[in-house]
Amino acid sequence: MKNFFKLDKPTLSFEIFPPKGKGDLSKIFDTVDALASLDPDLISVTYGAGGTSRENTAEIASRIQNDYAIPALAHLTCIGSTREEMRATLGRLRDMGIKNILAMRGDIDGEGTKDFAHASDLIRFINENYKFNIFAACYPEKHIEAYSMEEDLAHLSDKCRFGVDVLISQLFFDNAYFYKFRDSVRKLGISAPIEAGIMPVTSPSQISRMVTMCGASMPPAVQKIVRAYGHNSMAMREAGIAYATNQIIDLLAEGVDGIHLYTMNLPEIAKRICENIRGVLYSLRVKRG
Ligand code: FAD
Repeated sequence: MKNFFKLDKPTLSFEIFPPKGKGDLSKIFDTVDALASLDPDLISVTYGAGGTSRENTAEIASRIQNDYAIPALAHLTCIGSTREEMRATLGRLRDMGIKNILAMRGDIDGEGTKDFAHASDLIRFINENYKFNIFAACYPEKHIEAYSMEEDLAHLSDKCRFGVDVLISQLFFDNAYFYKFRDSVRKLGISAPIEAGIMPVTSPSQISRMVTMCGASMPPAVQKIVRAYGHNSMAMREAGIAYATNQIIDLLAEGVDGIHLYTMNLPEIAKRICENIRGVLYSLRVKRG
């Protein structure tokens, strides 16, 4: 299995989500089969995002490592958990051989917080008691709850002080936000690699959901795509692939540490994007290596 931490940059990771409920896992492993053939450096598995199940994250991540020999990243949220519950969850992840955790607070719902108010509390708890590699979330356009970018960056800095190996960014459609954010992060002395989160836009409803959920700005070029192709699903999909490709090519040109592709469990779209970017990605790796 590749060692994600020893790979040449830029890295390429994929994100998938488990099925809702306990469900049959065969479909998700069809998706993993197809994604594995694209030779990613890591596959991450979400935890309860968008109403999907939390129960299967560890099992899917463990099988990605064991059956496909691909490094896996298990997402984990702490809001609503007690220390005891978190100990049980982390013990299970450790016993299943999980090495990498994306440690997050999670979205505030009716439950309220218990022993962990922020992701930094979870990161500290993990690093004091376990030996996982820690990934954390970051927000090029600030987290939706944060009053200002400065405030959010200060909290990110605190989070990183507790020991973060890699940052993965929220999706964005305008690279200018990412570059500004990356400059600010580096000025604060945070040196963890930052993988840029890219979600291909495939339908008008998906994009409006994302804008509402995470506050990503829609640049004029994306608005134009939605206006021109939103009524034609095939054209919209093709335009979305082209837009994500261009975003990634530009990020690679600007020396991004890695790309994190939100695949939405659609391997055909990930495949098309990979075909478009692979030549550039690999030649950069050779050059830097
Ligand atoms: P935090 O880092 O705790 O930040 C949350 C907010 O609190 C921010 O506004 C921050 O500025 C503020 N804050 C932080 N520390 C302090 C402090 N000490 N005092 C006051 N304010 C503070 N959600 C899921 O449920 N499941 C998933 O699998 C999932 N995967 C994700 C993957 C990625 C790459 C990203 C970017 C997000 C993902 N999310 C997922 C969403 C995430 O859970 C939400 O964005 C959540 O609202 C914040 O989590 P966090 O870890 O960034 O929180």
